[in-house]
Amino acid sequence: MDEFRADLHCHTTCSDGTLSPSEVIDLAVQTGLKGLSITDHDSIDAYTTIMPYAAKSGIELISGVEFSTVHKGESIHVLAYSFSVNSPSISSLCSDHQKRRERRASRIIELLNKEGFEIAEEDIYGSRETKRGIGRPHIAQAMIDKGYVKDIKEAFRSYLGEGKKCYARDDLPSTEETLACIHEANGLAILAHPHLINNNGVLKGLLSMPFDGLECFYARFNISQNKRWTAIADLRGWLMTGGSDFHGDIKPMISLGSSWTREETFRKLQERHLINNR
Ligand code: AMP
Ligand code: ZN
Ligand code: FE
Ligand code: FE
Repeated sequence: MDEFRADLHCHTTCSDGTLSPSEVIDLAVQTGLKGLSITDHDSIDAYTTIMPYAAKSGIELISGVEFSTVHKGESIHVLAYSFSVNSPSISSLCSDHQKRRERRASRIIELLNKEGFEIAEEDIYGSRETKRGIGRPHIAQAMIDKGYVKDIKEAFRSYLGEGKKCYARDDLPSTEETLACIHEANGLAILAHPHLINNNGVLKGLLSMPFDGLECFYARFNISQNKRWTAIADLRGWLMTGGSDFHGDIKPMISLGSSWTREETFRKLQERHLINNR
């Protein structure tokens, strides 16, 4: 692959991906990617060790994270890039999220137990090295392992999805306060997978917020969808990023590098990353 490709959206074992950060770097090399950002849910734990490894592997890595936020009752994902990996505001937001995730996991276990499912903390944390990074897919996996559901889709559709029987409401930070935190860290804020936002009023509100870009290229995008989002980004002078949302075996249909960011855009993000991580 001669064309420059940078996949700016993927997950590791620091959240709900199945490959470790170094395994993702190895896979990026095998796939022929030149640039990468690891964007775990609400965690920058991957960056405590991975920057020297990426550099040695010849992968141009920029800092990233995918924040969970809420706007008008809808769950909205915000990608942050290029911030300093030592930023106090990003670290503190991640740490609040990790506490929230642990509390939520305990509440979901209680709800599952009430439904008669024998699921305990050790079933969901399993072989994880720490309690950090826990998410609903880990709980879904424990339900599959115990034979309660046949796959992740069924676990979300019947129990863990928003508004379902064992869904625990969450007090997520608002999209606005998350944008303010990213900008305090001199990072760039991108609205993730906008095609998943079904409510037009919510989308309109988001598009009037101070985002720096839109995730215009995504694993399952088709050409007409790409055009819709690039036109919106173009109108606002926003960055047009792209990535696969790779999670490893837990989402086997999505491969690393199946969607990417153009070199020109990548260089703008990288320039900011280098300033913030000198
Ligand atoms: P959490 O961040 O713990 O709330 O979990 C969100 C994760 O669950 C994201 O990676 C989603 O891709 C995944 N997810 C959400 N809904 C579904 C679904 N219906 N089927 C499979 N995975 C899902
Ligand atoms: Zn995920
Ligand atoms: Fe997401
Ligand atoms: Fe994601």
